Amino acid sequence: MNVAPVSVAAEARPAARHRTVAVDVGGIVVGGGAPIVVQSMTNTDTADVASTVKQVAALARTGSELVRITVDRDEAARAVPYIRDALMVKGIEVPLVGDFHYIGHKLLTDHPACAEALAKYRINPGNVGFKDKRDKQFSTIVEIAAKYGKPVRIGANWGSLDQELLTRLMDENSKSDAPLEARAVTREALVQSALISAARAEEIGLGRDRIILSAKVSAVQDLIAVYRDLARRSDYALHLGLTEAGMGSKGIVASSAALGILLQEGIGDTIRYSLTPEPGGDRSLEVRAAQELLQTMGFRTFVPLVAACPGCGRTTSTVFQELARDIQHWITSSMPEWKTRYPGVENLNVAVMGCIVNGPGESKHADIGISLPGTGETPSAPVFIDGEKAMTLKGAGIADEFKTLVNDYIERRFG
Ligand code: SF4
Repeated sequence: MNVAPVSVAAEARPAARHRTVAVDVGGIVVGGGAPIVVQSMTNTDTADVASTVKQVAALARTGSELVRITVDRDEAARAVPYIRDALMVKGIEVPLVGDFHYIGHKLLTDHPACAEALAKYRINPGNVGFKDKRDKQFSTIVEIAAKYGKPVRIGANWGSLDQELLTRLMDENSKSDAPLEARAVTREALVQSALISAARAEEIGLGRDRIILSAKVSAVQDLIAVYRDLARRSDYALHLGLTEAGMGSKGIVASSAALGILLQEGIGDTIRYSLTPEPGGDRSLEVRAAQELLQTMGFRTFVPLVAACPGCGRTTSTVFQELARDIQHWITSSMPEWKTRYPGVENLNVAVMGCIVNGPGESKHADIGISLPGTGETPSAPVFIDGEKAMTLKGAGIADEFKTLVNDYIERRFG
């Protein structure tokens, strides 16, 4: 059999980023080739200043670079500047995005301190107003954005699509010689809703550098199709997110599938995971999931990665799972301090492997890795540093000794 002397795999990198116009959101640049921004949204009542400040602070400390809050009534709008001020007192300057539906024009008009305190306004063109009122109410929000120098996100959504536009497109489609399926027409309505509204915002006087678009759908394939189309038809900065992604692993998997494919194609300037938390659950999960997607795909680095094998019948004790979990928790909890003391530490790669089959090999690829003994293997754990076997750990203190070695490595390389 003839085998080529060198087998070259296809390029292992994403497509070039789709060119978009950069938008400054309170000092965070979205689009224009800037690093892909992680954002999140609170689920507290915005009128409850203390709870909202606490959650925004937790999201920001986890790494959310923009945080969106609901502004649904006068009490919420009134609370916004107090929330911004309380965050500043805590040293948290994360830009706040106001999420407006139905009465955004009125809330922004009646509460100028809210309009000023927010770094961006999110408008849903499907519910900014209906019939004659729609254009006027949309114009009011855009004029206020222009007056305060704020960007807007025009966020169309499958669940609240502009019904007049959809009806018109459905009628036109039914008269066509080759009508499309209803779902394709709905996708087109979503894209048009975003693009028409953006064009209108520009006519009113908002620069292209103040407009971000999104067109969220809850089905993965529809979302991919819609964003490919948006990217093909415009150069507005794009906010990606699968709407109503769901709970737990389903929400994370569906969002990662959709966003991962689009990012790989160079589409997307900021992302959000719309995860439903367990009752009382940790809202920050959506931030960590977004960071992990960007990091595992090689777009950005946030925290040191721990590579761990899944374990199998060769790891019958829980020592390996416990060490992998301990190391991950220890790294996560140490990061706030490490980030200031060890610049670049987020690039660290650690491997915790379960047995001799892949353990030494995978550990050699990491900056520092340990290969624990599998069932029936000699009870010793070789440690590899920068690809070389450095020592072998034995006995009950393996976990603590390995943490000390990781600490020493960080001190040496990033200190
Ligand atoms: S490295 Fe060993 S323990 Fe881990 S999955 Fe592979 S064979 Fe199983």
